[in-house]
Amino acid sequence: MDDGHINDAELDALFGGQPPKPALPPDGVFRTPSGRDLSRYRATSFISDRSRVSPWLEAMFMSAMESIQRKNYADAIRHLKRCLEDNRDFIDALLWLGRLEDEPDVRREHLKAVLSLQPANGDAMRELMILDGELDPDQPFDAFTMPEVRHADGAVAAQARNLRCPRCGSPNLSDDDASPNILTCDSCGYTLEKAANTGGMQSLTRALLLRRSQEVVWVVGARTLKCHGCGAERTLTAKQMSSECPFCGSRQVIEQDALGTLSQPDTIVPFRVAGRAALEQVKKSLDGTVERLKGFFVENRVKRVAIEGVFLPFWVFDLMADITHNYEVVESKEDQHGSIFTLSAAASRRTYSEKISDGVMNLTAPAVKQPTPAMLARLGRYDYSLGVDYRPEYVAQHSAEIYTLDFDKAAMDAQSRLSEHMRQKHRCNDSRYRTTSITSLVTQASFRLVLVPVWAVTLFERDGDVRSALVNGQTGEVVLGRAVKPN
Ligand SMILES: [Zn+2]
Ligand SMILES: [Zn+2]
Repeated sequence: MDDGHINDAELDALFGGQPPKPALPPDGVFRTPSGRDLSRYRATSFISDRSRVSPWLEAMFMSAMESIQRKNYADAIRHLKRCLEDNRDFIDALLWLGRLEDEPDVRREHLKAVLSLQPANGDAMRELMILDGELDPDQPFDAFTMPEVRHADGAVAAQARNLRCPRCGSPNLSDDDASPNILTCDSCGYTLEKAANTGGMQSLTRALLLRRSQEVVWVVGARTLKCHGCGAERTLTAKQMSSECPFCGSRQVIEQDALGTLSQPDTIVPFRVAGRAALEQVKKSLDGTVERLKGFFVENRVKRVAIEGVFLPFWVFDLMADITHNYEVVESKEDQHGSIFTLSAAASRRTYSEKISDGVMNLTAPAVKQPTPAMLARLGRYDYSLGVDYRPEYVAQHSAEIYTLDFDKAAMDAQSRLSEHMRQKHRCNDSRYRTTSITSLVTQASFRLVLVPVWAVTLFERDGDVRSALVNGQTGEVVLGRAVKPN
């Protein structure tokens, strides 16, 4: 501590003496000078950011907490600012100033400083969302409260976008196989170029806070859709995102429903493999390794083939984490002169701890239950960098599915996969080092909803068996299902 660093009043605050008279506000409520009620904030002796704390800083922070407890606004602010003079990246002080300061812009600045150091800091994110009017400050909140899940009675009205050519109004827009980023009108030849992917990642922390602030999460069984073309109403299943009107042929893509249950996709990966090429790939797989039956198609065993292009939804996560690797150095029992050490087992081990920053990009979780995760995994990877920003028009002539598995469940799964991946990647077990434990703390998490192209193929065989196959619409990778007798 250098000279002049601390004044008398602060020395008093730090090292006792007479506790200063509590400067209680007139109505006994903890308020900012402009009158904002601060009583929902509770002072704490817990410091989350231990990495930046000197004993002096800790004492100063505790003085700030005491001031808050005494409802002494001016002292609390002063002590917190002194903390930042000592270390301007001290997260706990930044967060408290973000809560207590009067000016919204000053608060925002402090909260953003926390999030730039710790993007997954839920306290700072929540405060910022309250400040921006996205969350209700009066809503009781704790980390374990989850919204009630309720099933909607009957079909819920859907809001849909009509898909049609902007020039001639025809519903027949199709992807050009040769150039997957161009959408062409089959009637008048108008072309629409798909915009490049701009990323479209959302903060997972923010999305989880919004989710927890909901009182009810609705589960929808079916949706009704009123045709924009002819006015006829039809019912879609919960997972159907696009549909063609059987009466007038116009096409619609669902954007939202009356209960607000839907998030729009962020990215769509276009088809690069045409339907015919996909069927060729399926034939090859059947005639080749899997069936070991020569000429499966030549022998005319397949009576009929149905093929449909469908966009399936996946949650895609980017996760960064602080990894703590604890390991021990295994000492050789023998020194260089050949004499044997007779140290006890405990004494022959020294334990160390290292911190590593690491992360995983494009961690993918299916957002539908069918096809099974195992089958979808066998489709292989998609190159998301070839995706484009989602627009309903791009679903065009294919169908698309709505996610039925929610992002919060998928996020838990993604985080446990990250931990497992980090344990595999950083563990060591050789003659010198042995890992004792590896823990991962997610520091930054973002995600997006991506639609990926899949050809769903159904083969109806002469003996009555039905076999399904999936083809990766981007790479042509084939996954064959088993032949089953339909019941
Ligand atoms: Zn047209
Ligand atoms: Zn219609």
